[in-house]
Amino acid sequence: MKTTKLSKRRTCKVCKKKYRPKYNTIQATCNNFKCALELAQSKRKNKEKKEFRAETVRRRAAAKTRSDWLRDAQTAFNTYIRARDRGLNCISCDKPDNGAHQRHASHYRSIGACSALRFNTKNVFASCQQCNTSKSGNILEYRIRLVARYGKKMVEWLESQNKIVRYDIEYLKRLKRVFNKKARMLNKRNYP
Ligand SMILES: [Zn+2]
Ligand SMILES: [Zn+2]
Repeated sequence: MKTTKLSKRRTCKVCKKKYRPKYNTIQATCNNFKCALELAQSKRKNKEKKEFRAETVRRRAAAKTRSDWLRDAQTAFNTYIRARDRGLNCISCDKPDNGAHQRHASHYRSIGACSALRFNTKNVFASCQQCNTSKSGNILEYRIRLVARYGKKMVEWLESQNKIVRYDIEYLKRLKRVFNKKARMLNKRNYP
């Protein structure tokens, strides 16, 4: 004996009315052709919007200069350093990381003095805003704490570096990607 099973009632995505699919099982709208048409049109529009946004991102990226990428990579790197050193005192004055002051990523060998260490994680540590900007890193104090934390050998190695490095755009893009990802992972771990 053959039984005809009635298909389940669903709610139309467009008109919100209840319906039983008549045409096929994956039907998302009611049996009114107008609703199917409307859904298809809105899907197409969304796709176009998405493509337009992606194109804008591509065009903006293509228009960026090397110095734009350098700035972006530095921002990502500095964000990573601040995330890595969260909870550690200011490298130059021991001010605790208690949310009472802004935290900066402070270069021991400055960007101008040593381009080779610009993105070196052993050359950059979190400091308070005051030490980094008002006291240009507060370098004498920085050195004392850097030696205490990581040893004289590492500090002397940093001080011996003097290669001039010119980072190309592809490398900077990669740096940006990598350090943004590292920072995100650290932040996720700290604030799950
Ligand atoms: Zn409908
Ligand atoms: Zn400080």
